[in-house]
Amino acid sequence: MYTDLKLYIDGQWLGAEGRKTEDVINPATGKVLAQLPHASKADLDAALAAADKGFKAWRATSAYDRGNIMRKAAALLRERYDHVSKVQTQEQGKIYAESRAEVMTSADIIDWYAEEGRRAYGRIVPGRQKGVRQIVVQEPVGVVAAFTPWNFPTLTPVRKIAGALAAGCAIIIKASEETPGGCVELVKCFADAGLPTGVLNLVFGVPSEVSEHLIASDIVKKVSFTGSIPVGKHLAVLAAKGMKKATMELGGHSPVVVFDDADPEKAADIISAFKYRNAGQVCISPTRFYVQENSYKKFLTRFTEYAKGIKVGDGMEKGIVMGPLANPRRLDAMEAIVQDSKDRGGKIAAGGSRHGNQGFFFQPTVISDLPDDSKLMTQEPFGPVAPVVPFKTFDEVVERANSLEFGLAAYAFTNSSAQAQAIGDAIQSGMVGVNSVAISTPETPFGGIKESGYGSEGGIEGLQAYMNVKFISQA
Ligand code: NAD
Repeated sequence: MYTDLKLYIDGQWLGAEGRKTEDVINPATGKVLAQLPHASKADLDAALAAADKGFKAWRATSAYDRGNIMRKAAALLRERYDHVSKVQTQEQGKIYAESRAEVMTSADIIDWYAEEGRRAYGRIVPGRQKGVRQIVVQEPVGVVAAFTPWNFPTLTPVRKIAGALAAGCAIIIKASEETPGGCVELVKCFADAGLPTGVLNLVFGVPSEVSEHLIASDIVKKVSFTGSIPVGKHLAVLAAKGMKKATMELGGHSPVVVFDDADPEKAADIISAFKYRNAGQVCISPTRFYVQENSYKKFLTRFTEYAKGIKVGDGMEKGIVMGPLANPRRLDAMEAIVQDSKDRGGKIAAGGSRHGNQGFFFQPTVISDLPDDSKLMTQEPFGPVAPVVPFKTFDEVVERANSLEFGLAAYAFTNSSAQAQAIGDAIQSGMVGVNSVAISTPETPFGGIKESGYGSEGGIEGLQAYMNVKFISQA
């Protein structure tokens, strides 16, 4: 029912065959699902050579033909959605319905880039001298090295793969060793759609060793990473050594501002469901809830009711609303956050401890009365723990919301259009949802500012991330 885990290099699927392996664990049971082969140094060199060769063929393929292959891959992914969703839920823990939505969105992203690749327009700028044509063109960057984390096994890889392929680049992706199956299934769709060999390569291994080896290679011209801020900074330095382009999608700690003029219960309904999606292990998860004084009680009560009503269990079972955390590191992190909250005078309104004694489950948790300098209010929780605190004025909440080094996502609820515009302008964040949580779509830019990283994935910006601009002055 799970999947056969292999590397994909130069059009070949490669199994253990003498390579090092590691266990992939089902976080709902703690049991081993499969063995994942690690790429050796020779495998990584083979992937680099294959990508170099693949790039030459792929950039010479028209955007129209590239789009046709990509659309075929999207159709295969849709056809296989049930199996891919089950693979993801088993390895990552999110509930089946969320896995299915992730797989379907991944197919949409491929389709969107398949089309957008045909619109990688240049322009002609009027020349200063008669007869001079000033031509601006966009060209594919070259071979991309991409690294993705464990929280979205299909969606995060697809943003990088689809953007790179649409631009005419070849790519080597090192997906997460903890949740490799979603990306294996995704790569299968591209391989079965007829993507030329070498254009897309999939490897696994010890993350630091793989990234150091690939990024140091002259063949690699662009680095794309999604994951934590410390690792992002490390990879940005490695990329800078070779003056390579980089896109860094790093962590966030998203403020939610609920103004008195909004309906606090409606806001709580929308944002609480969004908070516990994927057990809070989402980089744009809402994580700091600031509620204006008069609405505070109503919002907290409604939000807490929702958290208490969440049915926690194995994401493969019907009726389950929240699955386990993806790995035991997150459980330890949740326990440390809750302990610090209690030490700092926080009141546990819901949850607060592990759920059951098998797998990596944690209760949906709500904590009130926390000071702004507590762990939960300052460090990305990346789990199902929500702090709810009151505020008085617009200026005060803006200052508190902008006080951290993060700048990925932010949310606000208000019924005043003036206030909606003011908060959208005032928040320091790459993405802001006002009365909406729909901030991640194939056609819109997705990315952060401040320590949350740089560059965008999604939208036309996500295509340009894989292109160089060239100016040709032609007399
Ligand atoms: P981590 O920092 O060890 O790893 C984060 C991801 O980076 C993992 O997928 C890991 O395999 C990869 N990684 C680690 N070192 C690497 C290297 N040298 N080269 C290439 N890849 C490397 O942390 P973790 O325990 O896996 O996750 C904890 C934190 O990571 C979370 O609290 C959250 O802040 C962040 N995170 C963010 C996202 C996101 O979508 N932005 C996703 C997952 C984790």
